[in-house]
Amino acid sequence: MQGVEGHIENLWTGLLQLIEKLVVPDWGALINLLPLFLVLGVLGPLLTLGLLAWTWYFLRKPRARVSYEDGPTRVLLGDDGQPMYPRGLPYSASRGLIYPPGRTRGDAGEDLSVICPMCGIGRGADIDTCGNCGLVLKVEPRARLLAPIGPPPGGAAIA
Ligand SMILES: [Zn+2]
Repeated sequence: MQGVEGHIENLWTGLLQLIEKLVVPDWGALINLLPLFLVLGVLGPLLTLGLLAWTWYFLRKPRARVSYEDGPTRVLLGDDGQPMYPRGLPYSASRGLIYPPGRTRGDAGEDLSVICPMCGIGRGADIDTCGNCGLVLKVEPRARLLAPIGPPPGGAAIA
C-alpha cells in the first residue's frame, strides 16, 4: 500500500512542477525581449510623433517659403514677343526680371520700374504715388504677400 501511495505522491509532485512551469512566466526570456518592447513602446510612438511633425512641417513649409521668396523671376513674353510685366510689381526692363514688392533696385544695382495697377503707366519703383492717376502704391516686402489686396500680379499675363 505504501508503495502505491508514494507513487501517487511522485505523480502529484510532477504534476505541480508541470503546472508551475506553465503558470510562472519565463523571466529570462522576457528580459531578452525587453529591447523589443522598448523599441515598440518608446521608439514606435517617437517615430510616429516625428513623422507627424515632419508631415505638419512639410504641409506648412511651401506657404512659408513663398512668403519669403525674395529672388527675381524672369518676365514672360507675350505673343508679340514683348515682355509682359505684371502691374504693381517692380521690374528691371534692361534685364527682363521681375522683383518682389518693396524692391526699388535690382541685383545689379539698376533702377527698377513699376507699372501702375490702376492706369498702367510706368514709373520708377522708388516713387510711391502715380504721377498720372495719383494712386498711392505702398509696397512693403512681406506685408503685401501675407495680406494680398486685389488680384494677384500674375493676372496681367492672361491679357
Ligand atoms: Zn496710375
